[in-house]
Amino acid sequence: MRYKIILTLLLTSGFFMANAQQAAKHEDTEIYEPVPKVVTPGKTNTEPPSDAVILFNGSNLNQWVYTDDNTKPVEWPVNGDYFTVKKGTGNIETKKKFTNYQLHLEWKIPASITGEGQARGNSGVFLASTGKGDSGYELQILDNYNNKTYVNGQAGSIYKQFIPLVNANKKPGDWQSYDVIWQAPTFKTDGSVNTPATVTVLFNGVLVQNHIVLKGETLYVGQPVYKAYSGGAPIKLQAHGDKSEPDSFRNIWVREL
Ligand code: MG
Repeated sequence: MRYKIILTLLLTSGFFMANAQQAAKHEDTEIYEPVPKVVTPGKTNTEPPSDAVILFNGSNLNQWVYTDDNTKPVEWPVNGDYFTVKKGTGNIETKKKFTNYQLHLEWKIPASITGEGQARGNSGVFLASTGKGDSGYELQILDNYNNKTYVNGQAGSIYKQFIPLVNANKKPGDWQSYDVIWQAPTFKTDGSVNTPATVTVLFNGVLVQNHIVLKGETLYVGQPVYKAYSGGAPIKLQAHGDKSEPDSFRNIWVREL
């Protein structure tokens, strides 16, 4: 009898927990105020230093594989000194894994971009790709030159976690840069967090994330949560499923710390 009661209690609490999870919506974690003030960035120019690992220098994507199928050749088109997302083919990530690093990356929203909110040049840099699809820690890429969305989802945000300090977007068609200092999380043998990840981000040379302590991996729905991994992780670029024209990338390099 007692077991029956315990079983009933367990099943009921499980039912309520499952219901609470089902009730979560992506809107729950979207913040709209305060809006970061606009700062006009200067002209940035960052060539790789001598000790950098070059991830893209304008000729090929040999350093990259598809996240979900690393046997398939990457079809994102390379055009002169840049390459462009090929939507529908999946995210790509570096063959090499990184732990702590300094990253430089340049990206461009098409001058003729259309769409609004999150569907306007959406891509992203996953600072550590911890698995298939969009798993990992996303630094958002989006056109927010003159495009409103939830502020913890705009360009320069750590998606759904940290609002950028200011809005340093250049207009669509201009090349823009991210300079990132990433300190990977460390985990105990039982999988719990030993030290959380920290990140500093300069957006077009302007500080937008100042050594923030991450709450966990990026989630579209629900609160961020850490998932243990070891041995470093690839850096991943997002092929977002929105209908807008694809973004381009160039001049990507990393200095391992
Ligand atoms: Mg994105």
